[in-house]
Amino acid sequence: MLVDSHCHIDFDEYAERIPQILDSMARNQVTHALCVCVNLTDFPRVLSLAERHPQLFASVGVHPDYAGDETLKVDDLVQRAQHPKIVAIGETGLDYYHLRGDLEWQRTRFRTHVRAARECGKPLIIHTREAGEDTLRIMREEGARETGGVMHCFTETLDMARAAIELDFFISFSGIVTFKNALAIKEVAQSIPLERLLVETDSPYLAPVPHRGKTNEPGWVRHVAEEIARLRGISLEALAEATTANFFRLFKLADLYKGL
Ligand SMILES: [Zn+2]
Ligand SMILES: [Zn+2]
Repeated sequence: MLVDSHCHIDFDEYAERIPQILDSMARNQVTHALCVCVNLTDFPRVLSLAERHPQLFASVGVHPDYAGDETLKVDDLVQRAQHPKIVAIGETGLDYYHLRGDLEWQRTRFRTHVRAARECGKPLIIHTREAGEDTLRIMREEGARETGGVMHCFTETLDMARAAIELDFFISFSGIVTFKNALAIKEVAQSIPLERLLVETDSPYLAPVPHRGKTNEPGWVRHVAEEIARLRGISLEALAEATTANFFRLFKLADLYKGL
C-alpha cells in the first residue's frame, strides 16, 4: 500500500470527481492522501474533505506564493490545527522563483508557521524553490527541528537534502522524479536513506510519466514509487512499505497504521 503525502484535491477541477479520485486511489492501492491547505480562505474546503473521507488527512497553512494572508498570526494556525484530522502545518516555506522583489513578508510568514508548528506540536510541510539557503537558515533560527516535517516536491541538491535530514525532516519526491531529464533529482532519490523518504503527487500539478501533462491525481503516486524503487534496485513493495511507514511515523498516526 502507498500514501500520497501531498495533494490539492480540494481545488475546483476535482469538485465533481471526488468519488472517481477515491476509486482510482483504491485501484492503485493508495490507502491515504494528505490534502494540503494553501490559504486560510480554502481551509474549510480542505478540512471538510478530510472530515468526510477516512482516506484523507489535511493540513493548515498558507502557501509562499499566496500574496494574501500577510498578517497571519501564530494563533490563526494553532486554533485550526486542533482538529484531529489536521496532521501538519503548511504548506509554507519560501519561493523566490514565482515571486520577485522584497519578499520579507514571505520570510516572516514562514517564521510564523514554524512557531505555530512548535506551539501545537505538529510537523511542517515545507515548499522551497530557489531559496534553499534562506529556507534552511530560517528552519534553524526558528527551531524547526523540534517538530520536524517534510521538504515536499524536492528539487534541490543532495547537500540540501542531507541538511534537512539533519534537522529531522523527511524528503518527499513528486512525479518530477519520473521525468527523463531529471537526473539530479533521480540521484537524490537514490542516495538518501530509505527511512527518510516520502512520495507524493502534488496533484493537480506534475503528473508522472506516463500521464505527464494531464491533471494529476493521488492514485498516480504509484508511478513515482515505481520509479524510485527502480532507481534504488528494490521492489515496489519494499519502497511502498517503507514510505507508508514513514508517513504514519512523521504525522504521528502510528496507531492508525497498526490497525490497517
Ligand atoms: Zn509546494
Ligand atoms: Zn503543494
